[in-house]
Amino acid sequence: MIDIKNIRKDFPVLNTAVYGNPLIYLDNAATAQKPECVIQTVDELYRTCNANIHRGVHFMSEQCTEKYEQAREKIRQFINAEKKAEIIFTSGTTGAINTVATSFGERFVSSEDEIIISEMEHHSNIVPWQLLCERKGAKIKIIPFDDKGILRTDLLDELINERTKIIAVTHASNVLGTINPIKQIIAKAHKYNIPVLVDGAQAVPHENVDVRDLDCDFYVFSGHKLYAPTGTGVLYGKEKLLEQMPPYQGGGDMIATVTFEKTTYAPLPLKFEAGTLNFTDVIALGAAIDYINKTGLQNIAEYEHQLLDYATRKLLAIEGLKIYGEAAEKVALVSFLLNNIHHLDTGMILDKKGIAVRTGALCAEPLLAHFGKTGMVRASFAFYNTFDEIDALCENLEKISLMFK
Ligand code: PMP
Repeated sequence: MIDIKNIRKDFPVLNTAVYGNPLIYLDNAATAQKPECVIQTVDELYRTCNANIHRGVHFMSEQCTEKYEQAREKIRQFINAEKKAEIIFTSGTTGAINTVATSFGERFVSSEDEIIISEMEHHSNIVPWQLLCERKGAKIKIIPFDDKGILRTDLLDELINERTKIIAVTHASNVLGTINPIKQIIAKAHKYNIPVLVDGAQAVPHENVDVRDLDCDFYVFSGHKLYAPTGTGVLYGKEKLLEQMPPYQGGGDMIATVTFEKTTYAPLPLKFEAGTLNFTDVIALGAAIDYINKTGLQNIAEYEHQLLDYATRKLLAIEGLKIYGEAAEKVALVSFLLNNIHHLDTGMILDKKGIAVRTGALCAEPLLAHFGKTGMVRASFAFYNTFDEIDALCENLEKISLMFK
């Protein structure tokens, strides 16, 4: 059970006033707010324990290294990876996908090869593959979705061939909310010996993820959508694959020995962690995981589903409002348009009432093009949102609708 009153007390920013109104923050899919324990972790580290990791023999360096490696262990357990060596810290989902596209691509992709992605990908899971294809002369194939926002996985057999080198697909869409049947996709891909990268940016905050049960080859997500500081992210990769891939970047910490003639690399995971990483915030990501575990991902998921059902019902009751994304399995977000009102007008008027929603192309232009749109409004929920906040959203949308009549 979510004790909403106490939960809200854990997130100080929720007390902010916007133009004299209490903040109603419904942009959690873009970035989530931070609980006190995460804020305190960062604050305390800079006050009491700040030294570069994996380098010094001095007390504080060893303390920071230990805390950083503890965070890695927390992540390992959180997604049920087999080994700590398979957990690589990155700057975010984008950083993780670029790492795989570049490094896996360098090792395994050649001219005329093919990469399969889906029509509902965030730009982060499109552009890195396009860059790779430009470098290698490879090409991208697309799994389409239907008008309800459900992926046409039935077409996978037709899309896969002997030139397919990897499938990169989102676990949950940041626009449609659709939770894709990735276990099924992975099983099919593996029949053809094709590895699968799963973009978990929108799934990890809402659903229990077990990378061993999924059997995915890569799973990536961002810390900042998971109540942790910005500039943190995770790349999970199967050890066997990561071992075969060259380093993404060169620098300190990722080497075993360096001479001008030849450099050898550090073992996993450090081979993929060149330079000084954002170690303070990674430690705070560990604190965010503790907070989620304490609250219970199952409790979070149940409460968010109630919010989603309530919001969907109330929004659909507004005349002229159309929701994009009608899959049965969704994460807690709703993208919509109201009559012919421009998404920016809707967003700006809501903002004046203190209601923060996302507007625009939502970093998924090809997805929006499917519906012939260039922008939408998105309300995305976290477990600190309330039913009253959804009422306020809907009341204001009714008013906006009248304003433009
Ligand atoms: N993939 C999806 C599905 C996302 O929603 C996002 C963030 N909106 C990203 C990738 C990119 O995440 P980041 O900007 O944190 O790297």
